[in-house]
Amino acid sequence: MGGPDFTVIAGPCSIESRDQFLETALGVKKAGACLLRGGIWKMRTSSKTFQGLGSNSFDMIRSVLRETGMGLVSEVTDTEQIEQIHDIVDMFQVGSRNMHNYSLLKALGRTNKPVLLKRGFAGLIDEWIKAAEYVTNGGNPNVILCERGIRTFETATRNTLDLNAVVYAKHNTDYPVIVDPSHAVGIRALVPDLALAAAAAGADGIIVEVHPRPAEALSDGPQALTLNDFEQMMSRLNRVLSAIDRPLQKAAQLAH
Ligand code: PEP
Ligand code: MN
Repeated sequence: MGGPDFTVIAGPCSIESRDQFLETALGVKKAGACLLRGGIWKMRTSSKTFQGLGSNSFDMIRSVLRETGMGLVSEVTDTEQIEQIHDIVDMFQVGSRNMHNYSLLKALGRTNKPVLLKRGFAGLIDEWIKAAEYVTNGGNPNVILCERGIRTFETATRNTLDLNAVVYAKHNTDYPVIVDPSHAVGIRALVPDLALAAAAAGADGIIVEVHPRPAEALSDGPQALTLNDFEQMMSRLNRVLSAIDRPLQKAAQLAH
């Protein structure tokens, strides 16, 4: 990432079952996604809501990755989880709530896998860039910054997508910068337009939530694109990418 190619990461908010994960994986792969996303441990606002399948799902996840040949980005919420999923993921995700978790960032600095660092929803751009240095100082240079919306006075949307931060980080750092329009806006119908805006603004990629049946999703259903929505978004995105001369990154066939 960070070269001319534009990377599309897509998948469910949470991995919920073999059927749900496989159906999503096959659908987003066919429509042009390069990497899968999917939460194993979820950082939910309420402790009473679905917290992710956790370690019981490792074998099932491995088998879906083998079957599809896709790579996976998944969030680690605790240092102990790094070792547990090191051989499953191709990229670690640090969630918005953990941007300031410096012991987690330092531990990821000792790994050899790329780290997708979400911006804290109340994090300054400067704090986000400094957080990335906790990873790189440990010897892992592969940090991808991800703008996922910040908390503002606005309540009509879940968060406010800060494209300033994307442009600022592109101009002032060497990290690849991607956008998560799903958490930024929180409303399915508004996600594709923001994905296109991210590409036009110079982001190096997007990470988007997709669910085959959003009404049944155990987390973040209201912002999940259906497979059909995703396909339509990809065809519009491809037109923006060709206008700005950025090829869509192809999925590598990975062995798991
Ligand atoms: C997620 O990617 O599902 C997630 C929890 O994102 P964030 O950390 O940006 O809220
Ligand atoms: Mn989510």
